[in-house]
Amino acid sequence: MGYKGTAATAFDELFPAAPDCLPQAFAGETLYSWCARYHRLNGSNNPRVTSRRLFGHSTAGLRPELPSHLANFQNNTHQHLGCLDELLTQRTVLGVFAPFLARGAMAEISRHLSSGNSVAARALLGLSKSGQATRTSLRFCPECINEQLAAYAVTWWQTKNLWPSICICQQHGCLLVQAKDELLHRSSADFFLAHELDASRLNLPPDAPSAQLQLLDGIATWTTTLVQHINGGLDESALRLTYLLQAKKRGWLALDGSLRLKALQESFLSQCAMLATVPAFHFVKDADGINGGFLGSLYRQYPGHRHPSKHIVLMNFLFAEPDEFFKAYATVERTISEAGIQSAQKLVTDTSRKLIKLIEQAGHSVSSAAGVLDIPAEEALAHLNRRNDVARLRRPHIVGTPREIQLREMLRDGRTRTEIAESLSLRPTFIKDYLAQRPELKAQWEAAHTARETEKHRTQLVAALNAHPGLPIKTIRRLPKNGFQWLYNNDREWLQEVLPAIWKR
Ligand SMILES: [Zn+2]
Repeated sequence: MGYKGTAATAFDELFPAAPDCLPQAFAGETLYSWCARYHRLNGSNNPRVTSRRLFGHSTAGLRPELPSHLANFQNNTHQHLGCLDELLTQRTVLGVFAPFLARGAMAEISRHLSSGNSVAARALLGLSKSGQATRTSLRFCPECINEQLAAYAVTWWQTKNLWPSICICQQHGCLLVQAKDELLHRSSADFFLAHELDASRLNLPPDAPSAQLQLLDGIATWTTTLVQHINGGLDESALRLTYLLQAKKRGWLALDGSLRLKALQESFLSQCAMLATVPAFHFVKDADGINGGFLGSLYRQYPGHRHPSKHIVLMNFLFAEPDEFFKAYATVERTISEAGIQSAQKLVTDTSRKLIKLIEQAGHSVSSAAGVLDIPAEEALAHLNRRNDVARLRRPHIVGTPREIQLREMLRDGRTRTEIAESLSLRPTFIKDYLAQRPELKAQWEAAHTARETEKHRTQLVAALNAHPGLPIKTIRRLPKNGFQWLYNNDREWLQEVLPAIWKR
């Protein structure tokens, strides 16, 4: 195995009576698995003796998800499996917890596990109550086991199958087989290897519908991606705002930034309710509760650990793919670091402010402001009715409808406001306001309207003159629809140029 110099000397000192074989660890193999193979290779029949040899403690090595007394282990094996950090993140359950741990928590947990205080470490991970890690810690894919046996004549436990949110082998598309819980009880704890467990010691998974397999496959992808890409813990506030921002994008946030829990719950359950039958995801059952169960708790602001599986299930539901999450999280994180947490919160609550600004300062109607912000007009209206402090003109619902197109056509055509109001069943004041907010259209309308009026009154006057030849202009002016007065006020040049004769009548 290439031990030379000081390493060989230290190795000989370790177990001088019976030189041990320290096997090479497989990539992605758990620490417990490596210890089990070590136990076999050295022909021991007492797991407690082996655990004491490696960990200086008779059961510290018999915990598949989280062995402790690691300082002793590192010392006794001369860091054969790498440094403590590598050992913890690559060969215990910690890898999947790491992205969700608060700053400093990882170092503290690492200290506790190093010294043998596994109770404190488990409490920091939130595992003292839930028992989730124990329940799922000895799991394997039967196909992978066959492949391992064919290639190496031995099997090993894979770290990713230790992670509670992974219930499927993505390579073979089958559900993981799980050893019975009693194998982990203190009295029966041992160094098990998967191929040595007969069916009586296993819980075989039920047949899963393909939709469920697909969902579990998606969750497994999220899990491995997060473990690979997140260095150091995700910030809890940033994470919560990222979820809220995405909920906003999906239409589950009211304009003031509050969560529309019912709509969120319905959508979540329609997609993810089938997870509740998988033991690792039993928490999904609470999601239809009054406070939204785990859904509500992930959105609410209260400090403390939450199980990674809960985050991962929510992420898988909210975001199309991990990249979308990483981008949204980066935006929130950048805003927090550049402008503070309050600015970041505004990303979530700013729609209400923008809406009010559009209405009060830019003179938009509710429906056109809603159009600008790409939110349903009914929602904007309901929000403003609730607030009751926003000055706005109440207008019929026309903006954004085919009636608006008709309105604009008639305005460009220069029709009178009365005529348009009657034809489209609008109040003339609405048309007046509509034009006041659109100066360009107003100028078009005025030009077209003047042209129409001019044409109309000229025609009326010419008709009156032709109908009453020789009648003096004073009398003509008293006839109905003679057109003269309007032309006298608005088109006097034409009167003088085109009809000089009438000045003499
Ligand atoms: Zn497999």
